[in-house]
Amino acid sequence: MIPLRRPPASGDLLRLCADRTERIRQLGATSKAAQEQWKAGTEAKAGIRELLVRMAPGVERCMYCLDSVGTDIDHFEPKSRRPLRTFCWHNHLLACSRCNSNYKREEYPCDDFGQCLLIDPSVDDPADHLTLLPASGEFEALTRKGEETLRVFGLNRPELLLGRQDAYIGCCDVMTAWHKNMLMDEVEGARRRAYALHREPFADVLRALEDLGRLPHAALLLGSAELAEAVAAWLAARAGSVPSDSLTRTLPATRSEFPANLRALP
Ligand SMILES: [Zn+2]
Repeated sequence: MIPLRRPPASGDLLRLCADRTERIRQLGATSKAAQEQWKAGTEAKAGIRELLVRMAPGVERCMYCLDSVGTDIDHFEPKSRRPLRTFCWHNHLLACSRCNSNYKREEYPCDDFGQCLLIDPSVDDPADHLTLLPASGEFEALTRKGEETLRVFGLNRPELLLGRQDAYIGCCDVMTAWHKNMLMDEVEGARRRAYALHREPFADVLRALEDLGRLPHAALLLGSAELAEAVAAWLAARAGSVPSDSLTRTLPATRSEFPANLRALP
C-alpha cells in the first residue's frame, strides 16, 4: 500500500449519492436496502468509479495489493455493517476481485474503542504501520493495525511476494537506466523510463526503494553505489531540486496525478 490522495467529488455526484442514501434510509437502513440501492445506482457508481480510477496508483491498480487491476468498488466499511455509508464517497476504494471477494469480504476489525484496525490508504500513511522489505517482497507489521491489515488483505500471500521481488529487480534496473539517460541528457529516454516506473504494479516497491535511498549508507543497503546514486538523483528530481527544466519535466509530479499524465502521453 501507498498513501493516496482522494479527489473531491463533484456536486452532481454528491447529490446522486445523497438521493440514494435517502432511499436506503426510507427503506429502513437495512443491509438488504443498501444492496438493492447499490445495484440500482448505476449513475452514481459510474461517477465514483471515474474518481477512483483517477486516484488509483499506476494503471488503475488495486489500492490494497497494488498488483492487479482494480475491478471492484470496495466499501471500506462494509454495506452490511453501515448501510447508510453505502454511497459515502469517503468509504470507497478500488480493489481487485481477489482482495475484495477472497480476502477482505465483510471484515472490519475494530479495537476496544471502536476504531478500525485496517489501514485506509486514503487516510493513513501505510508506512506508519507496515515496513516493506523490497528484496524479499515481505511486509512486516509495526502496529496492531498493520498486523490486522496484513491478515485481512493477505498482503504476504505467496504470489504477491514473488511479484514484489520481480518488481524490485525491475525498479532497480529501470532506475539505473533512467539515471544514465539523465547523465547523457537523453530526455526522451529518461521521460519514458520515469513513466515506466510510475506505471509498474507494486508502487509500494518503488516507495521502499526511495526510502532506502534516503538512509545513510544507502549504497551499502542497496548493494550498489551506482544504484544509490540513481535513487539520489531520482529523489532530487522529484523534489524539483535539479536545476535543468529539461530534466525535472521528465517526471510525473506525483503518483496520484499519474493517470492524468498518462492520458497526455502520445
Ligand atoms: Zn488487490
